[in-house]
Amino acid sequence: MTERAIQAVAVFCGARDGVDPRHLEAASAVGRTLAERGITVVYGGGGTGLMGAVANGALGAGGTVIGVIPEALIGPELAHPDLAELHVVHTMAERKAMMADLADAFIALPGGAGTLEEIIEQWSWAMLDYHSKPCGFLDVLGYWSPMQQLVRHMHEQGFLSDRGAAMIRFETSLEPLIAALEDV
Ligand code: AMP
Repeated sequence: MTERAIQAVAVFCGARDGVDPRHLEAASAVGRTLAERGITVVYGGGGTGLMGAVANGALGAGGTVIGVIPEALIGPELAHPDLAELHVVHTMAERKAMMADLADAFIALPGGAGTLEEIIEQWSWAMLDYHSKPCGFLDVLGYWSPMQQLVRHMHEQGFLSDRGAAMIRFETSLEPLIAALEDV
């Protein structure tokens, strides 16, 4: 198994806080840990919710954070004021394409429909060989367990190949997730 070098990770996560404050704490810790490992954080550029917490966690640890935000969301998602690099794009499609180009791997923290759409798109692109970058869910407090069950169900029911199932990883903490993604 070859080990890939992961220098930049795209983090997809909620623009909201969620009801359990441990999600915000976990998001902040993810940003901090990535920064401490010298891994650049690529994210949606917002200042709200878990997105803001990831960015602040990384910035607080002296990390490099790159934001990519569509101009229409600068107000609603409170574009982060402290990023050294904030790309303002026209559309959501441009945002996702730029994030995909900038990152070596993708991880999803707890979030809503936007988070799910973003990580599933990257996973589906990997399965189609549009790129070969690994994807994973950070299953904080069991948030993504139903998603893991759904992936198993898709696989068991013959709608997902062995290869596709192996291309999406689930871990409950960040270090094993990074290690798993380095091995995909
Ligand atoms: P959410 O997980 O719904 O809180 O959204 C997290 C981030 O995903 C926010 O920055 C949203 O702007 C973004 N987002 C929402 N819908 C989409 C979509 N269809 N494609 C890409 N990003 C989206």
